[in-house]
Amino acid sequence: MTAEVLSGKELAAEIRAEATDKAQRLAAEGTVPTLVVVTATDDEGSAWYVSSIKKAAEKTGIACEVRDLGQDADRKQIAAELDTLAKDGTVHGVILQTPLPKGVSAPEMASHIALRQDVDGANPLSLGNLVAGLWAFPPATAAAVIRILKHYGFRLEGMTAAVVGRSTVVGKPLAHLLLDENATVTIAHSRTLDLPKVTRAAQIVVAAVGRTGLITSEHVSPGAIVIDVGTNQDADGNLVGDVDAVSVKTVAKGLTPVPGGVGPVTTALLLAHVVKSAEAHHAS
Ligand code: NAP
Repeated sequence: MTAEVLSGKELAAEIRAEATDKAQRLAAEGTVPTLVVVTATDDEGSAWYVSSIKKAAEKTGIACEVRDLGQDADRKQIAAELDTLAKDGTVHGVILQTPLPKGVSAPEMASHIALRQDVDGANPLSLGNLVAGLWAFPPATAAAVIRILKHYGFRLEGMTAAVVGRSTVVGKPLAHLLLDENATVTIAHSRTLDLPKVTRAAQIVVAAVGRTGLITSEHVSPGAIVIDVGTNQDADGNLVGDVDAVSVKTVAKGLTPVPGGVGPVTTALLLAHVVKSAEAHHAS
């Protein structure tokens, strides 16, 4: 078997085209969707990501401002910035970029993002609301996995899914989104005994770990669908996932590529969330 390549590019383009249309309509009616990215780091990878989000936002008709508080910012300054933004009706989305300065807790800081502006589901209350079945923006990456599975026509109800990784930004929210789709979900992590046995029992395997090549054909049952969330760098600096694509392709039915899989859909959904927040504000 050679797995179908579950590219995210076409789906991302669809989501972005729809968001661009809506952003143009909103702007014509006087509301320019606006995103603010708050950073407090001199990390190069982070700077690259923020500049790519800004470019993508502006292409979609979203105004995007980066507020760099500097790598020496403390918890009080970061919290005060987010509290000020929370009161600003002209701002529809806020992203708090990580890493934060040493000793500053990301969830504690993210709890200062207003829920209506929390377009990447970073506020712990957003995750709580999702689990409780209340409204919140889900983290864009977790939402992207569900959108890709649906885009390729997989009916999730009744399917077994193994999510490898239990972070609050990806693994946990994704497990809940899969549950909401009536999948039967197992969450695996670094203390899981016999990972291949756990993942081989699943029809959908999602790798959200951050370890190059962790998932091999040994972890995948024939005909399973494999979603690679991982973003790692290989020895040559190339972007690679958590899945050893060469071996997994020989057993899986479908596999998302890295790059070009979950990543572009995540960015597109983040921008769509900003536009949705602006629409809600405009209508109120
Ligand atoms: P994280 O906070 O470091 O969490 C990693 C998770 O993997 C933890 O739950 C950890 O288990 C688990 N893990 C570590 N080693 C393992 C092993 N050998 N076997 C099984 N589980 C293991 O990372 P994250 O923020 O969730 O991100 C995960 C990956 O997704 C990273 O590569 C990140 O760059 C990528 N990512 C991609 C996107 C995108 O848009 N494509 C967005 C966000 C993140 P413990 O809990 O036991 O430590």
